[in-house]
Amino acid sequence: MKPVVVPTDPHGLFDSRPTFSHVASVLGGPSRIVMTAGQVGVDENGQAPADIKDQYTLAFKNLTRCLEATGATVTDIVKLVYYIVDYDPNNRLHVEPLVQFLQGHRPATTLVPVPCLARPSFKFEVEAYVAIPQAPLQEVDVVVVGAGLSGLKAAYDVQRAGYSVAVVEARDRVGGKTWSVEHEPGDGKYVDRGAAWINDTNQSEVYALAQALGLGLVVQNTTGNVVQQDRDGSVSQFLYGSVPDGIGVASVDDMVKLRDAAEAACQLLDIRDPVRTGGHLDTQTLEEWIRSVGGGPTGLASATVWTRAMLGLEPSEMSTLFFLNYCKSGGGLLQMRSDRKDGGQYLRFERGTQSLSLGLVSLLKAGTVVLSSPVRSITQIDDKISVVAARGDFVCRRVIVSVPTPLYKEISFNPPLPAAKAALAAANRLGFINKVIVRYDKPWWRAHGLCGMLQSFVKDGPVSVTRDSSVDAKNQFSLTCFVAGSAGRAASKLSQAERFRVVVDQIKATLGAHDTKVPPPVGFEEHQWANDQWAQGCPCPAAPPGAMSQYEHALRSVHGKIHFVGTETAYEWKGYMDGALRSGIRGAEEVVRALASPKL
Ligand SMILES: Cc1cc2nc3c(=O)[nH]c(=O)nc-3n(C[C@H](O)[C@H](O)[C@H](O)COP(=O)(O)OP(=O)(O)OC[C@H]3O[C@@H](n4cnc5c(N)ncnc54)[C@H](O)[C@@H]3O)c2cc1C
Repeated sequence: MKPVVVPTDPHGLFDSRPTFSHVASVLGGPSRIVMTAGQVGVDENGQAPADIKDQYTLAFKNLTRCLEATGATVTDIVKLVYYIVDYDPNNRLHVEPLVQFLQGHRPATTLVPVPCLARPSFKFEVEAYVAIPQAPLQEVDVVVVGAGLSGLKAAYDVQRAGYSVAVVEARDRVGGKTWSVEHEPGDGKYVDRGAAWINDTNQSEVYALAQALGLGLVVQNTTGNVVQQDRDGSVSQFLYGSVPDGIGVASVDDMVKLRDAAEAACQLLDIRDPVRTGGHLDTQTLEEWIRSVGGGPTGLASATVWTRAMLGLEPSEMSTLFFLNYCKSGGGLLQMRSDRKDGGQYLRFERGTQSLSLGLVSLLKAGTVVLSSPVRSITQIDDKISVVAARGDFVCRRVIVSVPTPLYKEISFNPPLPAAKAALAAANRLGFINKVIVRYDKPWWRAHGLCGMLQSFVKDGPVSVTRDSSVDAKNQFSLTCFVAGSAGRAASKLSQAERFRVVVDQIKATLGAHDTKVPPPVGFEEHQWANDQWAQGCPCPAAPPGAMSQYEHALRSVHGKIHFVGTETAYEWKGYMDGALRSGIRGAEEVVRALASPKL
């Protein structure tokens, strides 16, 4: 039997429901004990809101993050202790957020009224004692760390070659950065909080998988005008596929010259050897390069739209070589930016892109994927590798690590990663993209001849780009708004309600500029990937100047019997789902070759 936390209500003691039980025991098998420090109600800057109710909410949010980092869930909590300043038994404000947090679970708890906490502004603190159930030690040929597309594809190929595999995933779901959600459960109106677009030509791996799984696809709407918001906020329109004509000849010239220069420079690179073919580009940031080729303010503003939407970063935050090689991996800047045939944003999925990941899981043997079990340590001893994960450990012959390079720091490798690989992981920077998806009951922008795309040069955005992300056949109508880069980071400091308000205001001022009756949204979705323990940013880590020249050789290198995949390790469509699948194929080939080769 799997161990569970069981509440006990001893005879003769008062009824402790719904918030706690007098006794909680862990019954049914081995478990790993985790204890948290006291969590207070502060934000990530250590600031405590004045309102005690906000402190309760934040404290439980912080406790949830602690649980997530260990792979624990609320139902694994055995005991909670909370400390309340100015406790008033007649006004128990902590109960509502507590009940919400516990979702019906009843650990043993102790409430301690206290005169003060570590700082005068702190009014509430909560600590947890947790028992995570442990599955028996499992022995398999290969452990794959991470159930995103790269890890699942690698697992599928290795399993198909006849080897036993366990995929060990930190989250309580598969898919990693493919994550699709309905508006109401069962209504089929999916939108994508993560990846959304593919194409059916040069993204052949992802398209082949979508076909094999029989997934319904939708062609991206590019019929009509794009709305252009200039640096001063003024709004004009141009036909999709042409250039903005309402921002002045000199500005258009600046944009087009820069675009053509970037396209030409990226086409000179060899994606299999970018440092040899473009090492000179690794000494400058993209912003410095833009200035060096004569790019003016509009050129820089348009490049900022590219880097925000493609990498969640500013042109000053990445090496020129990194950016141009990234573009070349998708066939070039123009192809990567295009929403038409052959472009990066040509097709979407009726049921969202997570259906690719779920489809891959359905092709694996039952029980292959273990959820809510972050891997924290990988030790290689002689012929065996020991993998320590939150819900049970593994012994195997090969490991495939599929997590983004900046997350290597979350795993203790023994022996440690080679210096160059560790330095590469430390140098790479994850971007900030929050797709705020605004749902409407009709695609009102189309009635004005608009395709739903906004391109904004306003520095503070908050939105840099919007796209029509509707699935008409399902009556799912939405605009996906990229709140990214420094504008996204600034918007993340707002409350969610305020963030949604400024996004809607910008939609009204741009796509809705000629419509006095823009309907109110019927719903919102977002995910702040940068705050997510198991992503820490998105969509793909970017290298600063110098990093590729020094460490690119270590990106795909094997460490003993540990292999590394993940979209950033792909040669083609790096950072995209197609690249993730391609990297999984490469990783599986490496492992199958190694397992099949006789020992010397
Ligand atoms: C907002 C956004 C928009 C995007 N748009 C597009 C798009 O339109 N088209 C496109 O092709 N791509 C897009 N992408 C990129 C695409 O999602 C990724 O390239 C792809 O999904 C990455 O797959 P992966 O397997 O390499 O990594 P991930 O999906 O990150 O998978 C890694 C997995 O490892 C898990 N993990 C991490 N650490 C541990 C640990 N210690 N132990 C166990 N498990 C761990 C993670 O939880 C995750 O499930 C977008 C991404 C985002 C976030």
